[in-house]
Amino acid sequence: MEELSHWIDGKEVKGTSGRFSDVYNPATGEVIARVPLATPAELDAAIQSAAKAQVGWAATNPQRRARVMMKFGQLINDNMDALAELVSREHGKTLPDARGDVQRGLEVIEVCMGAPAMLKGEFTDNGGPGIDLYSMRQPLGVVAGITPFNFPAMIPLWKMGPALASGNAMILKPSERVPSTSILLAKLAQQAGLPDGVLQVVNGDKEIVDAILDHDVIQAVGFVGSTPIAQYIYGRAATNGKRAQCFGGAKNHMIIMPDADLDKAADALIGAGFGAAGERCMAISVAVPVGDATADALIERLVPKIEKLKVGPYTAGEDVDFGPVITKASQDRINRLIASGVDQGADLVVDGRDLKIQGYENGFFCGPSLFDRATPDMEIYKEEIFGPVLTTVRRDSYEDALKLVMDNDYGNGTAIFTADGDTARDFASRVNVGMVGINFPIPVPLSYYSFGGWKKSAFGDLNQYGPDAFRFYTKTKTVTARWFSGIKDGVALNFKAMD
Ligand code: NAD
Repeated sequence: MEELSHWIDGKEVKGTSGRFSDVYNPATGEVIARVPLATPAELDAAIQSAAKAQVGWAATNPQRRARVMMKFGQLINDNMDALAELVSREHGKTLPDARGDVQRGLEVIEVCMGAPAMLKGEFTDNGGPGIDLYSMRQPLGVVAGITPFNFPAMIPLWKMGPALASGNAMILKPSERVPSTSILLAKLAQQAGLPDGVLQVVNGDKEIVDAILDHDVIQAVGFVGSTPIAQYIYGRAATNGKRAQCFGGAKNHMIIMPDADLDKAADALIGAGFGAAGERCMAISVAVPVGDATADALIERLVPKIEKLKVGPYTAGEDVDFGPVITKASQDRINRLIASGVDQGADLVVDGRDLKIQGYENGFFCGPSLFDRATPDMEIYKEEIFGPVLTTVRRDSYEDALKLVMDNDYGNGTAIFTADGDTARDFASRVNVGMVGINFPIPVPLSYYSFGGWKKSAFGDLNQYGPDAFRFYTKTKTVTARWFSGIKDGVALNFKAMD
């Protein structure tokens, strides 16, 4: 069986801990590789060497760092198929979806090609007699990225792009379930001219995450994953004086108004609810039709579309709509939650349990499921299912639908489908959710905006990628400079206006 490596100082390095985690092909259920889990001592060596490499990288002028990003972007594009294949093999998503995963990460690297403009400081001429003020953005030093399984290319790229373009070194700890894509990305970054040691990929589990959070040299932690872990990491990193932004889970609602184009709304729900087997933090998992007539008409449209969905391994061709979920434990959890929905009285309109795919009987497949008439007290509503399950919660009015979204603990994404501009505008203005779609189901902002949820979907300040990321990965220094020509001598003891 293949034994994977860490990426340290520009080369693949075998683990020395003797501890490994199995990596599966979720479509077959087979273990295809094992990834080493680093010890704190291995991590420490990687961090010390990153700290040395960071000094030269920070001194490299921003334009040259941007050129490395430009080359890196070209190489990602040239290796799109190889990257997508790795993503699909370890994650299970379809190849077109895996290419999208790489593409949305690449777009963040494209914005990083313009990093020098993002890293500019400010200048005030004559802030007082002979006095100029200026600010500069300086890199933090060595930072860490800790990433989830569901976007094996995109999220590591969200982390490494802005951090590296800003002059930091990064310790990337990818999900142990999908480690190979990060190693290939690190190789491509090296080919693009990134100096060895500036990007270290250290594989591991909780032990190594805790060691990152406690390590004095690590200045900032960018985490993406589930809410309980995000909250834990935020607390421990902040206690240790680190800058931290920790993005968590979601329960994204889509309101469907009676005036919405219901065919388009149904299509949007199919894509946003079942794409990537529902394993997206921006998946729509709750449909909120307003009024029974809207709900009935929507369910009538959804059912035949759901029944047509083709579930299968990524190798079965590009007409597969979605693949397996990530682990057997995840498959079991999804089936258990569906059973709880039935027990608690929701209508299971389409039941995706018991899906068997010939030749892939041991794969972690879940068919698509649809619930109607769920209520907010049910487990299927309260839990992030992270599987191909769409839950419908009917509401009688726009205000009730809005209240449902507002009262939910999570606040990552939300959407409204309506033909009425006033309603859409009111929704966008009042809803307490970080990313809002109007007749647009998965409103992941383009890479020159920034991505981040509210409430229990994010802990810490500033969003991911775009302008916020450059603020997160740099600290501001402000200089007040005075030159004495034409200034009267004198001693000033009082704190006063500069006049
Ligand atoms: P996860 O929280 O299980 O793991 C994320 C990372 O944390 C991994 O690298 C993992 O090794 C590490 N980790 C796991 N348990 C840990 C522990 N006890 N202590 C320290 N570190 C630990 O998440 P996942 O299952 O890999 O990913 C799915 C979750 O990520 C979903 O909840 C999804 O909504 C969320 N997500 C959020 C965003 C966002 O931007 N808000 C984006 C993608 C995914």
